[in-house]
Amino acid sequence: MEYRELGKNIAIIAGYNNTGVIENGANTVLIDSGEGDKTAGHISRLLEERGLTPSVIINAHSHADHCGGNNYLQKKYGLEIISTHKESLFIENPFLESFCFFSGSKPIKEITDRFLLAAPSRVTRVISPGEKIKIADLEISFLTLAGHSPEHIGVVVNDIIFCGDAFYSEHVLKRYKLPFLCDVDNSIRALELLAGTEYELYIPSHGIPTRDIALEVELNLEKMRKIEQDILSILVREKTTEELMEELFAKYMINTMSVQEFFLLRTTVLAYLSSLCSRNVVRNGFKEGILSWKRM
Ligand SMILES: [Zn+2]
Repeated sequence: MEYRELGKNIAIIAGYNNTGVIENGANTVLIDSGEGDKTAGHISRLLEERGLTPSVIINAHSHADHCGGNNYLQKKYGLEIISTHKESLFIENPFLESFCFFSGSKPIKEITDRFLLAAPSRVTRVISPGEKIKIADLEISFLTLAGHSPEHIGVVVNDIIFCGDAFYSEHVLKRYKLPFLCDVDNSIRALELLAGTEYELYIPSHGIPTRDIALEVELNLEKMRKIEQDILSILVREKTTEELMEELFAKYMINTMSVQEFFLLRTTVLAYLSSLCSRNVVRNGFKEGILSWKRM
């Protein structure tokens, strides 16, 4: 992991995730906390080497690779954790994440490990998208960027915005054949909203900070349009969810390697189906008693 200065008093700790660091006198603010104890330990060491003590974590969303270090850092520093209402439900009760993936039933053990399940932490302040707060003299505002998760936010400090997983850099988009999301329409809204803003720097959680958000947004939207078209071309014939996934994965050369990956991909496919149904482009029905989908 590497500490990279981005501007006056603003840095990222770049690893699998970019953790934001805002140096703010005695009140260093972190944006997200990494994947777990090990990453949090690295973050803590890098901060202490610079004489910084974190007093606040802002979680842009609740996925385990973004709030997995909360528990370690909150125990070590007794720090404040800030997030939105819906995301805080998952941060404080991570088992809900596994229950959601497993349709509300008791989940199998493969989807209860640390990759999906962060250790719980306590959210001490719930904020709403659109709200502005002050931490000492520092003003921070929050932009609604839902879609990748239910109440995902962007975190704006000065002229810089931490975008979480609202968009992915080009090389990350190439690696993830079906990028995870839970709401297609909100994801599009979030991307279009970002495209209309004029911040100095846009920092994705996975990838490289950029000044050219229009280009990044277009690449992300293009990928989503392609996935939607491919789903629609398969649904010319009626398919069950698993039949659709089988054909889509063959087309995208996705060889599901883990149970976790399977459930992440399935959630993403269901998000596209939900959006297509709400726009009356696809209808659901039953094929020999099994829920099915067909293009209208
Ligand atoms: Zn995420």
